[in-house]
Amino acid sequence: MISEKIASVFNEPDCEKNRGKTAGERKKGCGTKGLTPGAAAGGCAFDGAKIALQPVTDVVHLVHGPIACEGNSWDTRNVGTSGPLIYRWGFTTDLSEMDVIHGGEKKLYRAIKEAVAKYAPPAIFVYQTCVPALIGDDIDQVCKVASERLGLPVVPVNAPGFVGSKNLGNKLGAEALLAHVIGTIEPSDAGPTDINIIGEYNVAGEFALVKPLFDELGIRIRACITGNSRYRDLAGAHTARVNMMVCSQAMINLGRGMRERWGIPYFEGSFYGIGDTSQTLRTIATLLVERGATADLIARTEALIAREEAKAWAAMAAYRPRLAGKRVLLYTGGVKSWSVVHALQEMGMEVVGTSVRKSTEDDKARARAALDQNTGKVGELFGAIANPEMYRMFRDGEADIMLSGGRSQFVALKARTAWMDINQERHHGYAGYDGMLELVRQMDIEINNPVWAQVRAPAPWDPPAASPGVTPLIPAGRRAAP
Ligand code: SF4
Repeated sequence: MISEKIASVFNEPDCEKNRGKTAGERKKGCGTKGLTPGAAAGGCAFDGAKIALQPVTDVVHLVHGPIACEGNSWDTRNVGTSGPLIYRWGFTTDLSEMDVIHGGEKKLYRAIKEAVAKYAPPAIFVYQTCVPALIGDDIDQVCKVASERLGLPVVPVNAPGFVGSKNLGNKLGAEALLAHVIGTIEPSDAGPTDINIIGEYNVAGEFALVKPLFDELGIRIRACITGNSRYRDLAGAHTARVNMMVCSQAMINLGRGMRERWGIPYFEGSFYGIGDTSQTLRTIATLLVERGATADLIARTEALIAREEAKAWAAMAAYRPRLAGKRVLLYTGGVKSWSVVHALQEMGMEVVGTSVRKSTEDDKARARAALDQNTGKVGELFGAIANPEMYRMFRDGEADIMLSGGRSQFVALKARTAWMDINQERHHGYAGYDGMLELVRQMDIEINNPVWAQVRAPAPWDPPAASPGVTPLIPAGRRAAP
């Protein structure tokens, strides 16, 4: 029953926020705050489950519902693949009014059969949406029957949009993996240096920047859940020795579930920032040695860290004179709210503030510590910044660049301030040592772009001197064009 599943997700014991709640508050779940009038609602639970599982690249992702559900969620993240492309196809049962009257279960079965005949995938993921859930289509039963008759795993992902937020959908996607996928295949080659990475979505293919480090150390990524994933790797993920959680909010239930069921410890780490990448590698090596890997792994990891850090800092030194003194507003969430701060500070940049809208308490503490190191001041953590206030900050020259997701880009650009995408739609990978160098390179391109001199100069038709009563957008002396 979906209600029982949601209740268990709301009761997540490893969620720090949840532990601080009373039993009554826990029952109400997360994200129950009403919407601000005029604000976008954000993704639904179906969207969250789809985002979480779409990077499984070799399966058919079949959306059971009206075509708009698939249309709205199709390819919204720029997640990369090193092989199969089937995950980029949009499959839907395209329910119509007649299906609402007669039910959509037969149509769903026919769609599964057609997908198997045409594409021969290793598995099919079937997503429930609002309309079939409301008319009572039992996708669990259809998937079970289809799986038996067609001879392949057909996985129900029961997360209709109306049950809650995108974040809840992430967790329901993880529940589907726990219930139907992980542990269903026994790999014959399990070893003492196998790990899983949970919550790494391979945005812009950036995991390719990190994987060679693991390959060199002889650490095998059994499954990346779910970035550039293959079905069989996920099915055998229970044999790994350590789980690394990249974003604790998205799939913490999966880390806890795998620890309870298969005894795999998990820790939270990050591949954003040089220091954090090194710390993550160290932690993985230590945990693997504790769980049976040979002790020399720790020394080999330290040698690799020393070499890679030296290489990265040497390469980044060229950018220091061009970036030192520039001010950055980080408007993102989760681990990125603190993990890139150190590297920017090392470039001599000033991080004027970082948002902690979607961050855990632990993220907030780390962000505060990182900023304190920068300025000695406390309190530069932002919640949501209203657009007029954000515009004022840029207009008054309080930041030279904003790093954020696409939705807030126009506020910065309207105020003639550089902006860079750091969220899921971006087209550059920023993970690991090479990724940090790429981040710095892109920031240099944005901040020192000659376009700013053009757009901040007076227009040819402007009077030579400021007319009385005309307020310049950027007060004189606050910020010179590069
Ligand atoms: S809220 Fe329901 S109908 Fe709307 S996109 Fe999500 S699943 Fe589809």
